[in-house]
Amino acid sequence: RRKWRTVVEILKEFEEGCDAPVGRLRQVVDAMAVEMHAGLASEGGSKLKMLLTYVHDLPNGTEKGTYYALHLGGTYFRILRVHLGGERSYLDVQDVERHPIPSHLMNSTSEVLFNFLASSLERFIQKEGNESNSQGVIRELAFTFSFPVKHTCISSGVLIKWTKGFEISEMVGKDIAECLQGALNRRGLDIHVAALVNDTVGALSLGYYHDPDTVVTVVFGTGSNACYLERTDAIIKCQGLLTTSGSMVVNMEWGNFWSSHLPRTAYDIDLDAESSNPNDMGFEKMIAGLYLGDIVRRVILRMSQESDIFGPSSSVFSQPYVLRTNSVSAMHEDDTPELQEVARILRDLGLSDVPLKVRKLMVKICDVVTRRAGRLAAAGIAGILKKIGRDGGGGITSGRSRGEMQMQRRTVVGVEGGLYMNYTMFREYMEEALVEILGEEVSQYVVVKAMEDGSSIGSALLVASSLQS
Ligand code: ADP
Repeated sequence: RRKWRTVVEILKEFEEGCDAPVGRLRQVVDAMAVEMHAGLASEGGSKLKMLLTYVHDLPNGTEKGTYYALHLGGTYFRILRVHLGGERSYLDVQDVERHPIPSHLMNSTSEVLFNFLASSLERFIQKEGNESNSQGVIRELAFTFSFPVKHTCISSGVLIKWTKGFEISEMVGKDIAECLQGALNRRGLDIHVAALVNDTVGALSLGYYHDPDTVVTVVFGTGSNACYLERTDAIIKCQGLLTTSGSMVVNMEWGNFWSSHLPRTAYDIDLDAESSNPNDMGFEKMIAGLYLGDIVRRVILRMSQESDIFGPSSSVFSQPYVLRTNSVSAMHEDDTPELQEVARILRDLGLSDVPLKVRKLMVKICDVVTRRAGRLAAAGIAGILKKIGRDGGGGITSGRSRGEMQMQRRTVVGVEGGLYMNYTMFREYMEEALVEILGEEVSQYVVVKAMEDGSSIGSALLVASSLQS
């Protein structure tokens, strides 16, 4: 009673549900550009919040001094110190610490979370001894915070909502920079929270610092988000916004993008309903590291309910998030002839002696999930390029008629995050789909550049440039 045929049918149905041919991707591209417009036109005009960052000048390479960054991501927190010598080549990342965020903090209290961050910073600074700060000057810190914030200026803003499994409800509506500054002051640390920076904005700062053609950055880590440089006159919801540069970085919060053209399956619907933030972050739940493993798990769970091909221990798959995206990439990229890596991961989950045929099926499910994710990610990027008129089409920015030819300019899209950096197949599917959407000709002008730790380093640069301007 193995019911292999039922399993094959489930796979086929899933594969069809995830199908994202280029025609469909183009509809997603258009929807992204349209939603960006709507989000810029009025507050609440779109599921895309298109948040103002008050960052209008990006670092240009002349910055000097020593700066710190503390980054609270979705899975990791990082602390680093950079020294800037006043020229681009004099960027020296002196110390980097990266630790997993203890999971109990994610649903603790504001006090517990910020005390933890402050004590981590305290330890980091104690390690320095007196060399770096011999004059006893105040240390300037960027707080890189990878959650949606409504800013009033570059150094302060309130939390709009939690994402990625965090649930400390008392913090919603509170000023995040102030919370951290308070915790630092209580410990008597001479650290000043000079900027509150979304991780994508930090990444854009570093991208721009090295290459001023960088106008878009996207993060694929635990969650996913993008930001880009927008003309202030296109930010209609904020009339009379004066900036010296005539532009401002907009944090899209693209994880919350939604379109009926997205290929959504019953597994996605269940994942959303059972998450800590139902009806929210629909795009993120199809493309980001926290979720890909769980989509795969749900498909396997269904198969194991309808058949006995996974054997008696398959109930492990009823445990949410038991299959991590790291395991998905390890299985997907298993190039041993007998799929020994897949066997090892299944063994670690308590399933021994899973036949090769079933191991191959696992790899196939990983492929379907990741291919869809990579292709949708590409459509998102192409949507931004379309909005700013860098997609080779007419663009839909106001003041440019549709038929008018654009001068092709080199456009750099900076990309970072653990999913992108470590999962080769995700990256390849994304890049392949981007060329499919844009065409060979236009693709020559679009450079996708990977940036390791870009968001933390870039946030420190942003503090430097904002204090100097
Ligand atoms: P954060 O999201 O905390 O800022 P990262 O950008 O480093 O941190 O992203 C971490 C996430 O990236 C992990 O939670 C995981 O989902 C994904 N990831 C990391 N390594 C891999 C890998 N080898 N394969 C697939 N996904 C990975």
